Amino acid sequence: NAVIVATNVCKEYNTGTVKVQALQGVNLTIHTGEVVAIMGPSGCGKTTLLNCLSSLDTIKSGTIKIAGRDIQCLSDRQLTALRAREMGFIFQSYNLLPVLTAVENVELPLLVSGERPKKAREQALERLAQVGLEARANHRPAELSGGQQQRVAIARALSTHPSIVWADEPTGALDSKSSQEVIDLMLRLNQEQQLTFVWVTHAREVAQQASRLITMSDGLITEDLALLKG
Ligand code: ADP
Ligand code: ADP
Repeated sequence: NAVIVATNVCKEYNTGTVKVQALQGVNLTIHTGEVVAIMGPSGCGKTTLLNCLSSLDTIKSGTIKIAGRDIQCLSDRQLTALRAREMGFIFQSYNLLPVLTAVENVELPLLVSGERPKKAREQALERLAQVGLEARANHRPAELSGGQQQRVAIARALSTHPSIVWADEPTGALDSKSSQEVIDLMLRLNQEQQLTFVWVTHAREVAQQASRLITMSDGLITEDLALLKG
C-alpha cells in the first residue's frame, strides 16, 4: 500500500527575474515499510522533492497524494493536521530546542496535539527508551553528543506515531560511528514497526543500507533501484 504517490510533479522557484525549474516531472510511489534513499549532486532537487512530498512546500503542477489524499485539495489547517498525524521529520542539525531537556523535546509534539501532560510525559519516556536514551531524559541538547541528539530527534519524530519519517541528511553532522548508530536505529524501527523512511543523503555508505536507492539529476529521477539487504 502506497503512503505517497507523486505524479508528474513540477516545482518552480521565482527569484526576481530568474526562474529555477527545481522539479521537472517527478513520478514516485513510496510504499509502507520502504526505506528510500535519495542521492544526487548538490542542487539537483533532493531537498525540494522532500519538502514537496511532505507538503511543506507547494508545487507548480502535478499531484501528490499522502495516505490517499490529494494534498492540493486540503486547506492549510487540514495539511497541518495531516502532517502531524502521518509524518515525522529529522534534520541534519537535529533542530532540538536548546532550553528544553530531552524528554521535554520529545513530549512537545504530543502536548501540541492535545495530549494531557502526564500521558505525554509517559509516552515521551517510552520513546526515549526505544532509542536507548532513557538515562539522558533530563539532559539538555548541549549536554548530549551529536549522535545522542539525533536519537532524541528520532524519538521526537516518533512521538505521534507517524507512518512516514522524512530525514534530510540525517547523518550529515555525525562521525562514522555515530552515523552508523543512527542508521541502525532507523533500520530497527523500520523492521519492528514497518515505519517508512525517506533519507536525503550525500553519503553512499548510508544510502546503500536503504531498501531502495533513487538518484536524481536536474530535477528528475534518473535511477530507481531496489537494493538487496542482508
Ligand atoms: P539539493 O537538495 O539536491 O541540493 P535543492 O532542492 O536544494 O537541491 O535545490 C534545487 C534547485 O532549486 C537548485 O537550483 C537551487 O538553487 C534551487 N532552489 C532551492 N531552493 C530555492 C529557493 N528557496 N529559491 C530559489 N531557488 C531555490
Ligand atoms: P542542500 O544542498 O542540503 O539542499 P542548500 O545549501 O542547497 O542545501 O540549500 C539550503 C537552503 O537554501 C534550502 O532551504 C534551500 O531551499 C535554500 N536555497 C537553495 N538554493 C537557493 C537559491 N538559489 N535561492 C534561494 N534559496 C535557496
